[in-house]
Amino acid sequence: MNSLTEVRVGLLSLERFESVLDEEQMREARATAEALRERLARRVVWNVNSTAVGGGVAEMLQSLLSYTRSAGIDTRWMVIEGNPEFFRITKRLHHALHGSPGDGSPLGAAERKIYEETARVNAVELASLVRPGDVVLLHDPQTAGMAAQLVGTGAHVVWRCHIGHDSTNAQVEEAWAFLRPYLDLIPAYIFTRDAYVPDFCDHGKSTIIRPSIDVFSPKNQELDDEAIRAILVHTGIVEGSVGEDQVPSFRRDDGTPSRVERRADVVRLGRAPSMETPLVVQVSRWDPLKDPVGVMRGFAKLVDGASPAQAELVLAGPNVSGVTDDPEGGATFDAVLAEWREMPHAVRSRIHLATLPIRDVAENAAIVNALQRHAAIVVQKSLHEGFGLTVTEAMWKSRPVVASAVGGIQDQIEDGVNGVLLEDPEDLAAFASVLRDLLLDPDRARRLGDAAHEQVRRNFLGVGHLLQYAHLIERLDGQARW
Ligand code: UDP
Repeated sequence: MNSLTEVRVGLLSLERFESVLDEEQMREARATAEALRERLARRVVWNVNSTAVGGGVAEMLQSLLSYTRSAGIDTRWMVIEGNPEFFRITKRLHHALHGSPGDGSPLGAAERKIYEETARVNAVELASLVRPGDVVLLHDPQTAGMAAQLVGTGAHVVWRCHIGHDSTNAQVEEAWAFLRPYLDLIPAYIFTRDAYVPDFCDHGKSTIIRPSIDVFSPKNQELDDEAIRAILVHTGIVEGSVGEDQVPSFRRDDGTPSRVERRADVVRLGRAPSMETPLVVQVSRWDPLKDPVGVMRGFAKLVDGASPAQAELVLAGPNVSGVTDDPEGGATFDAVLAEWREMPHAVRSRIHLATLPIRDVAENAAIVNALQRHAAIVVQKSLHEGFGLTVTEAMWKSRPVVASAVGGIQDQIEDGVNGVLLEDPEDLAAFASVLRDLLLDPDRARRLGDAAHEQVRRNFLGVGHLLQYAHLIERLDGQARW
């Protein structure tokens, strides 16, 4: 039985970045790609994680690997196999690294035995393919246990952790104690931010690489006003008329034109907002840590204080009704709905709960794209956030973003310069007042949005991400004994 699956990776040319980078940056990107291609001649860069679809890591791998492959670098993506018990344990580790107990189950000797057995089977198979000098990037806790066999091949092994918690607690410590025996064998680590590096991961061995977004994907690609309007009207999120020639169109990753066919399910009282209504928007999974109830309560304070410009709120997330493997999402949405029903009529009529179709991932992305582009303000009022991709996405679209000063968001937004940080995300009066000020000051909103776009252009594009990988590989080669 095969334990590893190779994921098909597309080809995307780095030249696409010509439209968003300046000449100097483009020159650096081409030169680095060329140097890396020569350096890695006949060597393979292996990426190993536990899922080919769903979640930010898979999305990022698909796009980054497509660029490296088309630059002539032999990059492969392998997904490990495991039984449900293995994935329950790794989910438990995932929650613990976020500082929370998850299902509260033990992480003892019995769990370690199951974890190690699955890791070993996958590692032995991969080790038979890996040659000395190859680079193996192991992603997240699911793959750390594969270290011993892979280090033994003479490849450079790097462990990349995409999650983390700003401060440590008993849960975080327990997860690190579980993973440490494997990590001690690995010569290099990548973390998302400094605060996420555990003390025992010698800082000299750790590199910080922040997540990037693919600005040409359906989620982030340029959409003209007509397409935005057509998508939002077609899905039922806003009300308006669209002409025959206004098509809810977008381009798929491979460049083929497509259109949004499905509609959103929107819970609302009365009418949809018009295209002219300023929208405050939060797009998130239905997760208590994204604090959707807090967003509604904060917005209610804005309405109480005679909301300026008649703004309305759209809370959008994936459609949870048909998703059996996300019971937590369904329960959170139900809690949001229950709270919404309790709100006074005048408030409720200005809050729209939109669940977006997810059967076609690219179509879902195009709807998110249109909604973020149309928003007067994008909000991410999370109580905890490893790194908020929705924040980067909205900043790229030149939106003024109001987000909590938690986790990675603090590295994404510079308060008052390219967005607004909420020092205390639970202070709803302060949240309402920030929204009010921004709605009343469109010039400031525009300035923040413009600076936000520039911040992403400089720091959060895939091309910068690849440069950091190139530097890391150069460094590892310098330390190699082979
Ligand atoms: N997202 C989406 N459709 C939805 C809700 C969210 O595509 O209905 C995307 C969102 O655009 C972002 C990702 O899911 O790219 C969420 O990443 P983030 O880092 O913000 O939060 P996470 O869900 O990883 O905690």
